[in-house]
Amino acid sequence: MADQPLTLAEAKKIIGPLRQQLIQWGKEYYEQDQPTVEDYVYDREYQRLVSLESQFPELVTPDSPTQRVGGQTDTQLAKVTHDIPMLSMGDVFSVEELHDFNLRQQDSLSHPTHLEYDLELKIDGLSLSLVYENGRLVQASTRGNGVIGEDVTANAMTIKDIPHQLPEPLSVEFRGECYMPKASFVKLNEERETNGQPVFANPRNAAAGSLRQLDPQVTARRNLATFMYYVPEYEKIGVTTQEAALQRMRDLGFNVNPNNRTVHNEDELAEYINEYTAKRDDLEYGIDGIVEKVNDLATEQQLGNTVKVPRWEIAYKFPPEEQATVVRDIVWTV
Ligand code: NAD
Repeated sequence: MADQPLTLAEAKKIIGPLRQQLIQWGKEYYEQDQPTVEDYVYDREYQRLVSLESQFPELVTPDSPTQRVGGQTDTQLAKVTHDIPMLSMGDVFSVEELHDFNLRQQDSLSHPTHLEYDLELKIDGLSLSLVYENGRLVQASTRGNGVIGEDVTANAMTIKDIPHQLPEPLSVEFRGECYMPKASFVKLNEERETNGQPVFANPRNAAAGSLRQLDPQVTARRNLATFMYYVPEYEKIGVTTQEAALQRMRDLGFNVNPNNRTVHNEDELAEYINEYTAKRDDLEYGIDGIVEKVNDLATEQQLGNTVKVPRWEIAYKFPPEEQATVVRDIVWTV
């Protein structure tokens, strides 16, 4: 027998604690770099909130995790205001959902065309913004809540693959992912265990904890790396596609992941997803999915963003690797 639809009063009883729980997990993950549940648990409960809020839009509140990017910036690091907000990303959990997203995306265009996509690996780290003036690195910051991030310039200066000086006098912001290679993560946790310090839950949290340090010398010892993937004001580097933006960044001396691919249909899309689902464990860095981006940057601009996520990109998230390692799980009941 089909479940009875929830009444407003019943939905209210579930949404309140569910939202508070997600906010608490968000704090542990984004602000303290110490999550207490696996990502798939967070993702599952987040999807439940999305579904309840879409059934009962009158219960959506401005502080809901569905309406906000990341966490707050309450570390002692100086604050930076992002001129162009650093957003989160929508996600799908199956190729069917990805197909539906693509159809909706095409339908929303005023002149629907056959879209070409740039596919990239979704690096499991934290977003990093690098601002250059006349070719010189002047500011590095974290995403924070999307509008206000943390100033990590001195720390980023210690990351070996970040150029301090570009070969051209460009005044441009570049964005990418700061991550900790798997081998460095294992070594760091071994050292911490020996010293009686708490270990990091995963490379993503180790990278975040290492970049968001008051002492740059600590960051320098942590062996962080970057993959740059986005130029918000792409006209400034003279490109018209995401594929060309990635190549331009390589030519400027940034570290750019070599595994992006431009695809033209869903067979090629599925092939890429299958290929990297299989190769995932062999990579030297963690990935938690595939990012699909509209390749043409004028179309990207036309698609624009919601308050929280771009409409021109979406993450296909891999299924959880090992559900047995759940630290804490919850079951919500009416
Ligand atoms: P997200 O990390 O899932 O996706 C957006 C981010 O992907 C971007 O900000 C960017 O930093 C990154 N990214 C990596 N490779 C990229 C590429 N090639 N191109 C573009 N972007 C790329 O979104 P989010 O809002 O930062 O975090 C939400 C996710 O964090 C959840 O889905 C959940 O898995 C996890 N989370 C877990 C907990 C927990 O307690 N375990 C709590 C909160 C959030």
